[in-house]
Amino acid sequence: MTFHSRLTALLGSANVLVDHDAQSYLTDWRKLRTGRALAVARPGTTEEVAALVRLCAAEGVPIVPQGGNTGQVAAATPDESATALVVSLERMNRVREIDVANDTITVEAGCILAAVQDAAREAGRLFPLSLGAEGSCQIGGNLSTNAGGIKVLRYGNARELTLGLEVVTAEGAIWNGLAGLRKDNTGYDLRDLYIGAEGTLGIITAATLKLYPLPAAEHTAFLALRTLPDASAVLAAARAALGDALVAFEVMSGPALALVAARFPEQRLPLTDIADDVAWFALVETAGAAEDDERLMATLAEAMEEGRVVDAAVAGSDAQRAAMWRLRESITLAISETGPCIKHDVSLPRSRMDSFVAASDADLAMLYPGARLIVFGHLGDGNLHYNVLGPEGASRADVAAMSPAVQRMVHDRVVAAGGSISAEQGIGWARIDDLRRYKDPVALDLMHRVKAALDPRGIMNPGKVLAPETAPQPVPDPVP
Ligand code: FAD
Ligand code: ZN
Repeated sequence: MTFHSRLTALLGSANVLVDHDAQSYLTDWRKLRTGRALAVARPGTTEEVAALVRLCAAEGVPIVPQGGNTGQVAAATPDESATALVVSLERMNRVREIDVANDTITVEAGCILAAVQDAAREAGRLFPLSLGAEGSCQIGGNLSTNAGGIKVLRYGNARELTLGLEVVTAEGAIWNGLAGLRKDNTGYDLRDLYIGAEGTLGIITAATLKLYPLPAAEHTAFLALRTLPDASAVLAAARAALGDALVAFEVMSGPALALVAARFPEQRLPLTDIADDVAWFALVETAGAAEDDERLMATLAEAMEEGRVVDAAVAGSDAQRAAMWRLRESITLAISETGPCIKHDVSLPRSRMDSFVAASDADLAMLYPGARLIVFGHLGDGNLHYNVLGPEGASRADVAAMSPAVQRMVHDRVVAAGGSISAEQGIGWARIDDLRRYKDPVALDLMHRVKAALDPRGIMNPGKVLAPETAPQPVPDPVP
């Protein structure tokens, strides 16, 4: 029997996609890469995932796990060799259990993030992971990239929201680690190895996630500011005044919002008559008690008196809140519709953020006059999306020619300031050279040894995260 016929016997022909039906799974969201694959497999149960991994292990077929395919580093896209099997988790989308008394929800990996949020809300709870792609990204992808998003400041990233996992190992065994425990010190933390592994160690098939109380009230404000240091000062004041009630503090540069206005003219800024010296905007949100509103207003009033905030609008309805967030969440789409972009997803100690941006802006202005900086991100987490568009009218080739020097300059500065070259999006295929250049060599060596131990045949998402030429050699197939 051929590999294809065995796969079809296992999953049914409707769940083994080839040719035209497979196309949409073969290009990443940013269109950085289009690959080829033997097929796209769509298992419906954990047992089917385990059986198909055993089949691939026996035949030496590489596996590329795929969730919602919204990742930004081409981690879920196969290479051009047409030797790999893409495994889409999309059919595994059941909520298995909500344990309200334990504040946990157990879901399959293919659940869309927004569906998990909705299920939690229906049970009177909050699942706080929240990001622009939440309508199509999947929990398995969120955990495999250790996704961040807009509420990390208060609730942490995907890792901190996860209590347990179910995983199909690279050899096709099922590890049931779905405990809903907040304390469990029984040896090495396997859960945290699989989280953020970008599908290079095994396939996550289900997860038990933490739930929180639904906030009694939420308040959102949109601020106009002159400088990033002003935004940092307002963030510090808001943290001091609001504590845990402060759930989000996002910043957007003027050019980032100008791009949204140009691409989506139906979206309006909540402020009018914006002063000429306003160069930054911030989106601030509290969640908690009704009286947080007064503390937020007092903080903003003080910041305006000090001249740090130029103008502010406070959302008076859910629709106004949603419109403010839509502006923020449209930036990524506006960039992708504008043209090729050199993207950086960096984190720094919050204390070094302002000096990093000032120095990088100055370097870029000198080296590439006319290059357009589209900077935005999660200031509260020390995470900026420091993106560079070519000068107006630049071709794809022009931007590609600039890209290595720009990335090197930005990442050298980030690392010199004690930061990370990937805050929340992962390494995937696009940042593999950066990881090799900047990661501590001892850490890189340990990562290779973990990979060799957990994926001895090297079939799990090869060519992602760790550079292919240093990947472990495949071991011989087992005797049947
Ligand atoms: P995919 O892109 O399908 O896969 C990502 C990686 O996970 C790949 O390595 C894949 O092989 C692996 N994988 C997927 N499912 C599994 C599984 N079940 N088991 C093992 N490996 C698996 N990211 C943030 O962190 N914060 C943001 O604020 C944010 N905003 C975004 C806004 C927009 C508009 C867009 C398009 C993207 C944004 N992202 C953000 C990036 C992206 O949405 C996240 O990385 C998301 O977590 C990816 O989920 P996915 O299901 O699409 O995964
Ligand atoms: Zn982000």
